[in-house]
Amino acid sequence: MKIRVGFGFDVHRLVPDRELWLGGIKLEHELGLLGHSDADVLIHAICDALLGAANMRDIGYHFPDTAGEFKNIDSKILLARTVKLIAGKGYTVGNIDATVCAERPKLKARIPEMQEVLADVIGIDVDDVSIKATTTEKLGFTGREEGISAYATVLIEKK
Ligand SMILES: [Zn+2]
Repeated sequence: MKIRVGFGFDVHRLVPDRELWLGGIKLEHELGLLGHSDADVLIHAICDALLGAANMRDIGYHFPDTAGEFKNIDSKILLARTVKLIAGKGYTVGNIDATVCAERPKLKARIPEMQEVLADVIGIDVDDVSIKATTTEKLGFTGREEGISAYATVLIEKK
C-alpha cells in the first residue's frame, strides 16, 4: 500500500450580511465568510490538503473563482468532487486532522456535527475526521475577528 500526506491552509474574510458556513454546516453568527463559493474555509483547507497529497495542484486550479458554476456553491460539492479527483489517481482518504482558528463564534458544541457531515461526504468513518478549534488569543486578523483561517493535514492511500 502506498500512503501519502498532504497539507492545506485557507483564509476567508468575515463580513456582515453573509451566512457563516463552516465544516459543511451553517452557524448562527452576525458575520459570515466572504468568498465566491459559500466560503467554507475548513472544507477548502481539507480540499487543498487532499489535492496536495495526490500532487494535483490546488482548489483554485480545479474550481476557479472566475467560473460562474461555482458562485455561492456549497463547498460540500467541491469536497465530493475533490475526493473523486484523487480517486482518479487511485487514492482513498485515510484520515483528516484539521484546525480552525476563530475568535468567535465558539465552535466546540458544533464540532461533532461537522465531523459527521464531512465523514458522510467523503465516505469515511467519523473517527477518521478530527476537527480542532482554537482562538489566536485575540492576536492577528483572526483575533480581531476580521477573518477565519483553517489548516488541514490528510493521509491518503492507494491499495
Ligand atoms: Zn477558500
